[in-house]
Amino acid sequence: MNLTSKEYMEYLVLAAKKIDDNGNYITSLDAITGDGDHYTNMQLGFSKLTENADEFALLSLSECFRKIGMTLMSAIGGSSGALYGSAYISASKVLMDKETIDTPLLLEILSTMLDAIKKRGDADVGMKTMIDALAPAVDVFRDGLTAGIDSSSLFEAVKQAADNGAQSTKDMEAVKGRAYYQANKGVGHIDPGAMTMAYQIETLMDYISEL
Ligand code: ADP
Ligand code: MG
Repeated sequence: MNLTSKEYMEYLVLAAKKIDDNGNYITSLDAITGDGDHYTNMQLGFSKLTENADEFALLSLSECFRKIGMTLMSAIGGSSGALYGSAYISASKVLMDKETIDTPLLLEILSTMLDAIKKRGDADVGMKTMIDALAPAVDVFRDGLTAGIDSSSLFEAVKQAADNGAQSTKDMEAVKGRAYYQANKGVGHIDPGAMTMAYQIETLMDYISEL
């Protein structure tokens, strides 16, 4: 598995579609647990990435990730803009002088993004946020790579971990984000940001499985 900027942008265009296809569902989740704008926010950011996909595909990986981060940060008004912006800008530093992303480097990128989101959001696992989809995916990725399982099983396991993680936010009481201000702290409803994070990880795992 090797990704260049071109493939990474192809993946993001697919992720944008996946988010769009589930727009009403994401809006309904954020309408209950937050202020209802999470899909609109993500759509604003990801449609800009789709528009710029051909241009960003020509950049070095590091510059490509930096531009993705800047685009998401400026296009998305909500907290997810700052969080994804920090994630991509931190990852762009890991990609300095790298020409392709292989499987171990992809793990390092996802792990760097996780750390950046935790730091920017002053949050951790179990707080009912996007972290609850990304963190278990990173853990399963690391364990599977260390154990040396085959790529297709590894990518499937990472995808499952992200989806299970998003589903697990249903029973959580929010500690961060707008759901904290809801009377029941969002209990009984999946966190929208965890769901869109899982969509991205699922799309990425499907994409790299077919390379
Ligand atoms: P806003 O909360 O500003 O309306 P969005 O609706 O776009 O922004 O994004 C909400 C999502 O952002 C939440 O569902 C949650 O997953 C994530 N989120 C919010 N605050 C934090 C935080 N402090 N740390 C990590 N993720 C967070
Ligand atoms: Mg919102």
